[in-house]
Amino acid sequence: MLKHAREVGGPALRKLTFHERARMLKALGQAIMARKEELYELNYLTGATRKDGWIDIEGGAGTLFSFSSKGRRELPDAHVLMDGALEPLSKEGTFVGQHIYTPLQGAALHINAFNFPVWGMLEKLAPTLLAGMPAIVKPASATSYLTEAAFRIMIESGVLPTGAVQLIVGGVGDLFDHLGGQDVVSFTGSASTALKLRTHPVVMRESVRFIAEQDSLNASVLGPDAAPGTPEFDLFVREVATEMTVKAGQKCTAIRRAMAPADYLDAVQEALAERLAGTKVGDPRADDTGMGALVSLSQRDDVRQKIAELEAAGAKIVSGDPSADSPIAGGAFLSPVLLRADDPWKSSAVHDVEPFGPVSTIMPYKNMDDAIALANRGMGSLALSLFTHSADAARDFIGGAAAYHGRMLVIDRTNSKESTGHGSPLPVLVHGGPAARAAAKKWAASAA
Ligand code: NAP
Repeated sequence: MLKHAREVGGPALRKLTFHERARMLKALGQAIMARKEELYELNYLTGATRKDGWIDIEGGAGTLFSFSSKGRRELPDAHVLMDGALEPLSKEGTFVGQHIYTPLQGAALHINAFNFPVWGMLEKLAPTLLAGMPAIVKPASATSYLTEAAFRIMIESGVLPTGAVQLIVGGVGDLFDHLGGQDVVSFTGSASTALKLRTHPVVMRESVRFIAEQDSLNASVLGPDAAPGTPEFDLFVREVATEMTVKAGQKCTAIRRAMAPADYLDAVQEALAERLAGTKVGDPRADDTGMGALVSLSQRDDVRQKIAELEAAGAKIVSGDPSADSPIAGGAFLSPVLLRADDPWKSSAVHDVEPFGPVSTIMPYKNMDDAIALANRGMGSLALSLFTHSADAARDFIGGAAAYHGRMLVIDRTNSKESTGHGSPLPVLVHGGPAARAAAKKWAASAA
């Protein structure tokens, strides 16, 4: 597969200009949109509702459109991208320097998580193909049937040159033994798998570029000014509940830690519990279902186990029952579970353990410095949201916490209507962040 990508797919893609490749992305997005109902049918089998599927399927196609238009607007109709201005190196100006970008001549290996089988593939393919690199896509086995269907649509569209994309369903065999310095591995999934793969001897020996998006203990913070009764308080409660229930909380950006001034924590708990109680959990196909099932029974068991770890570390369940009966016998359903940690500095688990499901922990902070320190205790996360109507609070918070977060979102009464919310990765913004080193460290310690 690597040989086919390097010798057939790569050269064919490199013959095209950025604009030609960008037009290809648009055509792929159109092909997916034209057959999206086939994908929605399979989406239900992952436990996801139609609304959840919209993020994955149409969100994925939207990412292709977005990269396509950026490619045509911001990149030249050429094969090489200039990096910065000409650097004068001589008095007479006959000798100059220019940095340029050209495509790597290897393959991009995309290893994806189970939670976004379509978007997860397309958010990586869009920049890869635009850059002129062929890709090998390896979806997570649990939802690979949906990735395969979207992949098949792209192949059948006839838009891509031979060898531009290939798919592995199942294990990767000895693929890693054949990687080289022109290849890139782009991984999404758990910190433990990331660590295992990034320390593969061939990846280290050949300096294979390795990018990982892994466990992330994202936080949302209620500003010190956002007392109960303010619009920001209500927006915060709504956002935390939404993030817990969309995709049954199986989102890399979901809010795992919700922080509020100590005086407001009881009110936050009450409002959140009321909202969560109104979420109907059940058949993802039913119109009145607010939250579907987790992707599999083993994922549900994993989430239950992580909840138990949080409880053992002192957090208390204040809403939801992880052992409640499934609304459909044999299904991987779980009601949203809200925990509360009154002394978040005494419980490292609430900052290190990621229950990848409809679970969040509320915790108090004492003052702005404490809120910043708690947010940063996540050891680097993909997304953080701050609910405040105070410009001073926003400035202080961002100044103190930006280095630890990939994307920071400030929400107040003026921008909430147009905001896409805490958890939506936006193709025009960077999606990623300083890796969740705590989780990796913890895993390494337990492996040792
Ligand atoms: P995972 O078990 O780490 O698997 C991620 C991907 O790596 C899958 O495609 C998996 O394939 C593959 N993989 C596993 N072992 C491999 C190996 N030795 N060589 C090559 N590929 C290998 O993660 P997951 O099951 O998809 O998700 C579980 C956890 O990932 C979640 O609980 C959550 O903590 C985290 N997650 C994080 C994000 C994020 O963006 N931060 C997103 C999603 C998930 P198989 O499925 O075939 O094993």
